[in-house]
Amino acid sequence: MKGSTKVIIGGFLVFAIYNELQKRNNQPKIYYNNTITGNYNARTIPPFGIFIKPEQKDNKMLLNHELVHWKQYQEMGLIKFYANYSSYNNELGYDLNPMEIEARILTGEKQECIYGYTECVRNGKALTVQNENFRL
Ligand SMILES: [Zn+2]
Repeated sequence: MKGSTKVIIGGFLVFAIYNELQKRNNQPKIYYNNTITGNYNARTIPPFGIFIKPEQKDNKMLLNHELVHWKQYQEMGLIKFYANYSSYNNELGYDLNPMEIEARILTGEKQECIYGYTECVRNGKALTVQNENFRL
């Protein structure tokens, strides 16, 4: 086997083991930084962890929302998590994505904001987070 092939296989195995360990990790690493795109306030990026904007550092409800996504990853696994999430988004849109709806319900978001979350976040009605430029 060529050396470069060994490096690729080795890298894949390291990633696969890291993923298996992360799936069992109930306390994912939280990164507070501004690299989140699309005017989201936070994002869960398995297998690495949860990314939250620095200004939302003390927002417990937003963290709990992201932890629901982490649990979804733990239950579905890496590939299904991304496949399901993106196909729901493509078919139903972000607001009606069942993985988002689950996160809103489990974190106690207002009933009126469960299905119209984007508008609620923009107009300040949402309990989880407020951001007039959300997803713009
Ligand atoms: Zn979410």
